[in-house]
Amino acid sequence: MSRSMPQPEYGIDPGELLAWFDTAERDLPWRRPEVTAWQILVSEFMLQQTPVNRVEPIWLDWIARWPTPSATAAASAADVLRAWGKLGYPRRAKRLHECAAVVAAEHGDVVPADVETLLGLPGVGTYTARAIACFAYRQRVPVVDTNVRRVVARVVHGVAETPARAGDLAEVAALLPEGLAAPRFSAALMELGAIVCTARNPRCGICPLSACRWKSAGYPPASTPARRVQRYAGTDRQVRGRLLDVLRAGTGPVTRAQLDVAWLTDTAQRDRALDSLLTDGLVEQTSTGLFALAGEGDDAGEGRAR
Ligand code: SF4
Repeated sequence: MSRSMPQPEYGIDPGELLAWFDTAERDLPWRRPEVTAWQILVSEFMLQQTPVNRVEPIWLDWIARWPTPSATAAASAADVLRAWGKLGYPRRAKRLHECAAVVAAEHGDVVPADVETLLGLPGVGTYTARAIACFAYRQRVPVVDTNVRRVVARVVHGVAETPARAGDLAEVAALLPEGLAAPRFSAALMELGAIVCTARNPRCGICPLSACRWKSAGYPPASTPARRVQRYAGTDRQVRGRLLDVLRAGTGPVTRAQLDVAWLTDTAQRDRALDSLLTDGLVEQTSTGLFALAGEGDDAGEGRAR
């Protein structure tokens, strides 16, 4: 009777990971000691689906201009949308503005520290709530983004990647070291996925982890086809961005004709994009039929072109 060979245990050694992070950690402005929980929250909103290099200059300007929740809440919706600039997914800016108002009015201008209360804030979901608890308040909570999920899939499960699963949080919680090392471990794990164990070109030659099940297994390919990189050119997102560019560039309402020239390729697509901006409350229509950024029309909330 054949007996199977004993399988080695695969985990993530906190000593290896933290020693690497001590030397490899990127100097990102939102990681500096003087940064407040609110400013970390702003960075987390901006970093959703947006690379660090695009977020960094916008975040620095934003924090200098509106360092607190109350300062952000006091800004107009249009100014917030202008400052968001070309980060994309501008609904995030609207949600951040709403979040600032709630933190200022209901939490004494201080971002709450516990995950359950954080989850009640506008725009704060499972990932963001835990990221703030961990990175701003140094709590021992699991933080799972695509980078963390990929490293765990490879090191622990020996597969190229896994989809988001209900058990992700519990699994990553079980990997955390005790005490104050936990939040730094979480940051290091995320950093490893971002700059070493990347989706397409893992740099195993410089990886600090001595045991990796996927590497030991000879890098078996993913069972599902690689996700296609989301194209941007020609999408409704691009058209929405072009329309918002016209409104951000001006100081007040513009005519429909001024908007129309922003996208001449497909008029039906342009109409659909404008309609979605109106529905999202990012753009509004004035009583005279002009279009404006949220809060800059003369009859905010009325007369939406649907
Ligand atoms: S050895 Fe390679 S695949 Fe494994 S965790 Fe390190 S970088 Fe990723």
